[in-house]
Amino acid sequence: MWIYVNDGFVTKEAAVISVYDHGFLYGDGVYETLRSYGNRIFMRDRHVSRLFRSAEAIGLNIPISTKQWPGLLHESMRRNDVGNDQQDAYLRITVSRGVGDIGLDPALCPSPTIVIMAKPLIVPAAHFYELGVALIIAGTRRNLPSALSPKIKATNFLNNIIAKSEASAAKVFDSILLNWEGHLTECTVSNLFFVTDGSLRTPALECGLLDGITREIVIKLARELHLSVEEGRFTPDQLYAANECFITNTTMEIMPVISVDDRPIGLGKPGPLTKKLYELFIGERERFLEQAPLN
Ligand code: PLP
Repeated sequence: MWIYVNDGFVTKEAAVISVYDHGFLYGDGVYETLRSYGNRIFMRDRHVSRLFRSAEAIGLNIPISTKQWPGLLHESMRRNDVGNDQQDAYLRITVSRGVGDIGLDPALCPSPTIVIMAKPLIVPAAHFYELGVALIIAGTRRNLPSALSPKIKATNFLNNIIAKSEASAAKVFDSILLNWEGHLTECTVSNLFFVTDGSLRTPALECGLLDGITREIVIKLARELHLSVEEGRFTPDQLYAANECFITNTTMEIMPVISVDDRPIGLGKPGPLTKKLYELFIGERERFLEQAPLN
């Protein structure tokens, strides 16, 4: 495996970061997860834009320009023999504050640490899509946006990790986090949708959640289908009473949810609108990929 670290590709064994890196010391950094279909990276430029938005939100200057990122991402795939006809790629970009003496001041770190990893993509097994998955509502609340905005895709991921541990302890696929007011936000690595009487509902960005790229595509597709789409403040009771539920992210796409806190959602199986939106998502994805640049 070849990993890009700061200014070049090195082997996995040589890809080591200083113990003084503020990403390690303080979780001070941002990241992105991307995937390819064959040799084309899905929504590549939107992911790079979000990386820059996250970095800007924490006052981190990324020394690699938006124009240089595509070349580096495609080279990462080529060097690791992924992102080709045989193997879709999972790509992870990490930009940390960099190496500096102990202390919180970002000025201690003159240059950020940049890491790009590319490896074979592993997606959830087909039975999860066919049967749907179970979720719980975590006791852990989502970070308060005015404390650490969930819109920042930060390497400080403890909030999500603690909620994920709750899901693992409950032996379910994932957890939904509520915000400070008890409203639904998102899952630990995905956005949340549900269907009530034909309307598609998803927590509004103001509830404190990541502006998922898949979320945005699903909202667009639902509007094109003339569904009513409500981005709002929703309670767990509204979710329990829903007819359908699903979660979205880049690697998983659209995953049906059949129960929350052991209560069946709708008929307790993947619903028709979930399936319809997934079909439309695949069409949208294929149209995007036909035109997606190869480097
Ligand atoms: N919410 C969180 C907390 C995430 O970490 C992610 C992606 O990893 C998402 C939502 C979904 O975002 P996207 O659709 O851009 O992958």
